[in-house]
Amino acid sequence: MAVKTKNKNLVRLRCDVCKKINYFYWKKKGVEFKLNLNKFCKNCRKHTLHKEARK
Ligand SMILES: [Zn+2]
Repeated sequence: MAVKTKNKNLVRLRCDVCKKINYFYWKKKGVEFKLNLNKFCKNCRKHTLHKEARK
């Protein structure tokens, strides 16, 4: 992999309704906050609350 990502964590945004992961974004390490976003879910076919899903 050409891209170095050691200072960032890949965070998944999961639909709170169907629990399907629809979005990804990179977050700096050490940043401790949880994102809850209203985003369109293709599975539910509507806007739903998406929450961070981390291992
Ligand atoms: Zn959904």
